[in-house]
Amino acid sequence: MKLLSRSPAETETVGWRVGRMLTAGTMVKMYGDLGAGKTTLVRGIARGLGIPSESVVSPSFTIITEYESSPRLLHIDLYRINGSSDLESTGIWDVIGSDAVTVIEWPEHAGDELPEDAVVIRIEYLIDDERTITIEGIDEEDWHNL
Ligand code: ADP
Ligand code: MG
Repeated sequence: MKLLSRSPAETETVGWRVGRMLTAGTMVKMYGDLGAGKTTLVRGIARGLGIPSESVVSPSFTIITEYESSPRLLHIDLYRINGSSDLESTGIWDVIGSDAVTVIEWPEHAGDELPEDAVVIRIEYLIDDERTITIEGIDEEDWHNL
């Protein structure tokens, strides 16, 4: 599914819809350059899970942030991670679980260690405030019925 976003608020709304649809145990891999809007979209996902979206930030040196929603949300930013041994040291495998929704920014920094089975979201900068958002792995009919 390919969507056009014209503002940060629209991207957050897309995230909100995604968040409403996610179930425990789902991983979301989020691809896009710096400033594409990944964290903005995570803010919407958080809101979809009942978490105040202002609480989602991207602090420079925090790799894993956990929110006590139901299901709980793990927001993981692998920007500073380089390969699988580095990934191991983050403790990621101790926190990911079947009771959590796990959203990962920069999944490509993890080597091949992340599971294949995931919702994949790609955000691409177009111009100014416009972005394309491509989503794979969610049911399109459910999306339209939400
Ligand atoms: P990332 O996590 O991918 O580095 P952020 O979500 O932190 O990106 O930042 C995206 C930046 O781009 C924010 O400053 C936001 O206000 C701006 N922006 C402009 N238009 C959009 C849009 N349509 N969607 C998302 N962010 C946008
Ligand atoms: Mg970010």
